[in-house]
Amino acid sequence: MFRTIDSWINRKVAVYAVVSWHKLYGMRMKIHHLNCGTMFPRFPRGTQSISYCLLVKTNDGLLLVDTGYGVQDYKQPTMFTKVFILSLGMPRSLEETAIHQVKKLGYARDDVKHIVMTHLHSDHAGGLRDFPNAQVHVHALEYKAIQSPKGFKERFYDATQWSHSPKWVVHEEEEKGDWFGFRNIQLQEGLNPEVRLIPLHGHTRGHCGVAIQTSKGWLLHCGDATYPFYHKNEPAEPFKPLPFYVMSPPKWLEKGLIGENTSRLKELHAKHGEKIQFICSNDVITYSRQLHIQRDAS
Ligand SMILES: [Zn+2]
Repeated sequence: MFRTIDSWINRKVAVYAVVSWHKLYGMRMKIHHLNCGTMFPRFPRGTQSISYCLLVKTNDGLLLVDTGYGVQDYKQPTMFTKVFILSLGMPRSLEETAIHQVKKLGYARDDVKHIVMTHLHSDHAGGLRDFPNAQVHVHALEYKAIQSPKGFKERFYDATQWSHSPKWVVHEEEEKGDWFGFRNIQLQEGLNPEVRLIPLHGHTRGHCGVAIQTSKGWLLHCGDATYPFYHKNEPAEPFKPLPFYVMSPPKWLEKGLIGENTSRLKELHAKHGEKIQFICSNDVITYSRQLHIQRDAS
C-alpha cells in the first residue's frame, strides 16, 4: 500500500520524465506543481487522483492556485470532511498540505501573498486557514455562493475553512476582456507573470479557471470544470485514473457534475494547444510528469 501518490509514482513510475514537454513550456522552477491531497477512491477501486495546486513566483510574492486540504482538516476534521476524506481514501498526510510544501521549498507562510481559488469546495479551500495573511482572490459569484449555497454541488462547501475571515478580493466580471475568445478578469495590474481568472461556471456558481502567463505561452488550470480530455489519445498506463480520464461522460452526467465548459475547452485546445498547457484538479498524469521534471531540475 502506497501512502501518497508521490510514493506511488516513485515506486511504480520510475522513469516517466518528459523532457521535451518541459522544454516546450519553459516553466522551470517558476511554477511549482503541487499535489495537496492524494486520493485512492473507494469507488472505483484501484484508481488514483490528486488535488492539483500551483505555487507561482511573482513580482508581488508567492501566489498559490487552490490550497487542497489544510492542517486543521487532518488534525481536527469536521464530520463532513471526515466522510469526504474517508470516501476518497485520502492518507491525511500533513506533508501534502500546501503550507508544509511551501516551507519545504524554503519559503515562509507569509511569503504567500495571493491565493487564487478556482472554487471553494472543501478539497480546494482547506488550506486557506494556513495562510491567514494572504489575499484570497475569488469570483463574485463564488463569493455569493458560499454565503447562500444552493443545490447539490454547493453542499460541498465547509464554512469552517474560512471562519478566520480571509482577506477576500472579490472580482466582478467585466464585459471587456478577451483571452483566446474567453471572457477573463486580470487579477492585478502589473502582476508578473500575468494571471487571469477565466470564468468556467457550472461546477459551482462562480467556478473559474486560472490562466498564468509563462515564457512560452499560458498555463491554464481548469479546476473541476472539465476532465483531462487532452490525454485522450495517450495511454493512461501505468495510471488508473478516474473513469472520466478514459471515457467521455454522458452529457447529463457532465452537466450535473462539472458544468458545460468541456466542448469550449476542447475547441480551445484544438486551436491553441501549442500555446496553452492544460491541467485540471485531478490530473494525476500531468502531475506525475511535472514531479519528475521538478526533481530533475533540483
Ligand atoms: Zn469541486
